[in-house]
Amino acid sequence: MILETSDLEYIDCNLCGSKSHSLFLPANTDFSQISANALACTSIHHSKHGPIVRCNNCGLIFANPRPSPQKIIEIYSQVEDHVYLAEEEGRVATFKNNLAEISRYKRKGKLLDVGCHVGTFLDIAKDYGYEVYGLEPSKWAAEYCRNKRNIEVQECGLSEANLEDSSFEVITMWDVIEHLTDPYKELRRANSLLRDDGILAITTMNVDSVFAKVLGKHYPWYMLMHLYYFTPDTMEKILGKSGFRILEIKHHIRVVSLRYLFSKIKAYSPAAYRAAHTVAHLLKIHDLKVPLNFGDIMTVIARKI
Ligand SMILES: [Zn+2]
Repeated sequence: MILETSDLEYIDCNLCGSKSHSLFLPANTDFSQISANALACTSIHHSKHGPIVRCNNCGLIFANPRPSPQKIIEIYSQVEDHVYLAEEEGRVATFKNNLAEISRYKRKGKLLDVGCHVGTFLDIAKDYGYEVYGLEPSKWAAEYCRNKRNIEVQECGLSEANLEDSSFEVITMWDVIEHLTDPYKELRRANSLLRDDGILAITTMNVDSVFAKVLGKHYPWYMLMHLYYFTPDTMEKILGKSGFRILEIKHHIRVVSLRYLFSKIKAYSPAAYRAAHTVAHLLKIHDLKVPLNFGDIMTVIARKI
């Protein structure tokens, strides 16, 4: 599926409603490049994006224009991401770290993972003793959760989910908020689904990080599939407005195999990829897991107030 110009929409600031914004990064590709593949979690379409703007009032950075919510849901429902499954071991290590962070605040209870994908995190949380539920627009991923992991998943986002208010201790959104068409609305729903004192955990890029600033327009996470680019400041503002208080913001550490890391390098520099691949092959270390921390991904833990 390819997007047409008529599938695009111009939007006001999601955080403050202002119509006034300035260009933050000009487009370097057009939306006719968007396909279901470009929206897969492990997509290699890095540093390719449409116009990205910054709100003149509150500083929120977002893609504008962007595909309409209907179109985005239609595309996500069709995503299949087999690369993710191949790389699952690295994700397991990453998610165990995430869970350790959350369990410092809530050790048990009902946990909802928004955009749960194939359920890797929910599986770990279930083993740990949480009562787990998932929301996932991709039919393929949702079916994988149900059939292979026996986890209850609804094929939708937070706003459409059929869930009871004040029923969850924990809600998690791992690398999800930047994909949402209306993050403010979804955060308010998350707030009403949580019990008093409930915990919300989010990971997303921090475009105010040194790494993102040094790379500028070459920062790899400026991508078509990302609609919002937060900073600690705009994250605090949107969470505050949605009824949360931030408990901590930390650098997120991601564990990946060298094999996966090389596949990312390949998109940038085939020559560097060949060199790295040859060394790894000689040393037989393709499956070696390495922790990555460029300081540009933030883990945000917030409490419902
Ligand atoms: Zn704004």
